[in-house]
Amino acid sequence: MNIPRPTGRLAPTPSGLLHLGNARSFLLAWLWARSEGGRVIMRIEDIDLPRCRPIFRRQALSDLHWLGLDWDAGPGPDDALGPFDQSTRFEQYRRALDRLVQAGRAYPCVCSRRDIEEATRAPHGDEGAVYPGTCRGRFATFAEAAAQSRSTPAWRFAFSDKAFSFRDEVQGPVLAHPHDLGDFVLWRKDGLPSYQIAVTVDDAAMGVSQVLRGRDLLLSTVRQLALYEALGLQAPAHWAHVPLLLSEEARRLAKRDGGLSLKALREQGVAPARILGLCAFSCGLQSELRPATLTELTQCFDFAFLHRPDFTLTREHLAWLLA
Ligand code: GLU
Repeated sequence: MNIPRPTGRLAPTPSGLLHLGNARSFLLAWLWARSEGGRVIMRIEDIDLPRCRPIFRRQALSDLHWLGLDWDAGPGPDDALGPFDQSTRFEQYRRALDRLVQAGRAYPCVCSRRDIEEATRAPHGDEGAVYPGTCRGRFATFAEAAAQSRSTPAWRFAFSDKAFSFRDEVQGPVLAHPHDLGDFVLWRKDGLPSYQIAVTVDDAAMGVSQVLRGRDLLLSTVRQLALYEALGLQAPAHWAHVPLLLSEEARRLAKRDGGLSLKALREQGVAPARILGLCAFSCGLQSELRPATLTELTQCFDFAFLHRPDFTLTREHLAWLLA
């Protein structure tokens, strides 16, 4: 019998410079795949055309390569856009949308962000207001929705009433009900596909069997599982949502934390082994701060270490990095 090799992916968004938190998630995704003898795919998530830039794509690919990560499929820093760049794949996403529309699983939505916030009285968490379903069943066609609003409508996914559950390697069993998520956007008003539809279509098309990303995307997995089901696609079999790296002020690292970008650290002469060491320490893969190699980390990779809270970077950690 032919057992398919585990396949993981690194999926950077080239809307800014990669920071230490990105490096840490990509390192873990890579270690997971390689520690199982698996393949690694590099996919560039550049659907947000106005925000993504070729210079960030090149820098991200070069930074990850510098760190020592490699991949079996996907572009190198000097390669032109190709089939692993989402901006070249809009037709595939559109076809998936058309199938959902035909199956009655997508509907046009004319609500603005403000409409949604005003219509939602319940408190909402990190993800913003839960869409209350205002436009579900409201318009017979997209043209009718367009005629009634001054802008182009979005398309939303119509969740069924069924709860979704999956086992996460880090978070354990996850159970979520569509009520708590709300129908989500498949295609934006500005004509761009959403993250959810693009990532679902691509993970299926690229044969991804394991997805590792930050725990802030845990609920996105529920949306994606609903999409796999509605599209009749094979979902990845394994999921891992890892703790985050926080800045000293205890907020999530963002692209604007330029000082902690891989580019800035590289320019200051920090060695890749120190970045790997700090990432490994922050995940519990090493019990003290010391430089690390990919070979040793591949050998000790184990999800048992990752059952821990988010990690806050202190001045001492940064001083060690720059020492
Ligand atoms: N493109 C996302 C990022 O750069 C990752 C999304 C995913 O892994 O599904 O954080």
